[in-house]
Amino acid sequence: MGKQKSRLELLTEIKVLKEANEILKNQKELAVQNKEKNDLIYELVVVKREIAAIIDALALAEEELAFQRKKKDDLIEELIVVKKEKEKRANELVIAEELKQFIKTINTPIFGINTKGKVNEWNQTSEKITGFKKEEVLGKDLIETYITEDYREAVKRVLDNALKGRETANFEFPLFTKDNQKIILLLNSSTRRNGDGKITGVLGVGQDISQMNNYKTNLEDTVKKRTFELEISLEREKELRKLKTNFVVMASHEFRTPLAAIQAAADVILKYKIKLSQEDIEKRLFKIKREVNDMKIILEDILIFGKADSQKLQFVAIEQDLVVLVKNIVSNYQLTQVKKREVIYKISIDKIMLNADPKWIKHIIINLLSNALKYSEAPDSVIIEIRQEENEVILSVTDRGIGISEKDQESLFEPFHRGENVGNIQGTGLGLSVLQSAIDLHKGKIKVESKLNNGSTFIVSLPYEGTI
Ligand code: ADP
Repeated sequence: MGKQKSRLELLTEIKVLKEANEILKNQKELAVQNKEKNDLIYELVVVKREIAAIIDALALAEEELAFQRKKKDDLIEELIVVKKEKEKRANELVIAEELKQFIKTINTPIFGINTKGKVNEWNQTSEKITGFKKEEVLGKDLIETYITEDYREAVKRVLDNALKGRETANFEFPLFTKDNQKIILLLNSSTRRNGDGKITGVLGVGQDISQMNNYKTNLEDTVKKRTFELEISLEREKELRKLKTNFVVMASHEFRTPLAAIQAAADVILKYKIKLSQEDIEKRLFKIKREVNDMKIILEDILIFGKADSQKLQFVAIEQDLVVLVKNIVSNYQLTQVKKREVIYKISIDKIMLNADPKWIKHIIINLLSNALKYSEAPDSVIIEIRQEENEVILSVTDRGIGISEKDQESLFEPFHRGENVGNIQGTGLGLSVLQSAIDLHKGKIKVESKLNNGSTFIVSLPYEGTI
């Protein structure tokens, strides 16, 4: 048996045991604590990781947020663009509506066809001028249905060209209305395109020029008329030039003869005045007087002829007895004649009060009487007839002289015209044309009845009780 342990030892041992226990306990606790610590560390690592993940996530979220923000900004911008586009569209729609309304109501015929030539536009003016309503026209073939056969090809060419983008301006063609009236349209064709520029048809803008065409035709007629008038006046101008030449020839001839006679008579008187008897001198002086008188008549005709052309003749009518007036004129005229020829009067009543210009009546009588005497021979007499009818006074002069051919009668009153049968009988061809002017002034008429070699009657009719 071993030595029994002392109490102290025991106590010490217990103490050691206790301490060991304590250490063990502490160790256990430490182990627990360590574990806890480790657990905590692990947890910490996890948390850290989570935190890192969260930070990452946060960064991502932030990025996403920035992205979303940008997207939002982009969207807003897009929205603004869309809004503007919408506004633009709305504006365009308003304009399109206005244009539609404008096309519909404009005072010009507008019609449209599609690429197949079928009508797809027909405004109110088209309806008005053609009489065809939009509903009955839409979808119909424009050319086949509404264009006259003779113009179909030409109109088709214009529309086909427009469908190829070649537009035509001011193409004129006829169109028949519903009630078969013909109207003339002036067409301007425009190519119609959609938003992408693709050709979708043709728009025809017309103008009803029927009235203008009438005006044009009238104008053409007026131009034709004026041209005709101009040609006539040119012709007249030519005639006048011819007359002027005739006049110079006539004047030099007509004046040379009486002037030569006057000169010869005067020469004889001057040279032989002592030898000549009083009677011989008087005979020559009388000849001079007669020649001067004849020249005076010619000069008067020439003067009147010149004035008549420019319508400057003076006309002063007074009421007087035509019978007395004619008899006075005739007897005064006879005084100038060497061989007095008989004048027979046939007068229906003694007194005929007529409103006329005595100066012109004298001209008419002397002209007709001197011609009657000149173109007939002594001793044939001349007949002067005056008679009064219902509305006119007839004054005629008849001779039994050389007469006037039918051909000459046609141009008898034209200036310088002389009959083919005048032979050596002198004259200017002016007397009757001047006489015509005198009769015109009285609003009277003159005609001639004559046969070649069988005398002539010149018949003047002057309005009686009428307005002169
Ligand atoms: P003229 O000076 O030649 O007589 P007028 O104008 O008086 O001119 O007459 C024109 C023409 O008309 C004359 O040249 C003549 O041929 C014809 N004529 C006029 N009166 C008569 C008449 N009584 N008898 C025949 N011919 C006449």
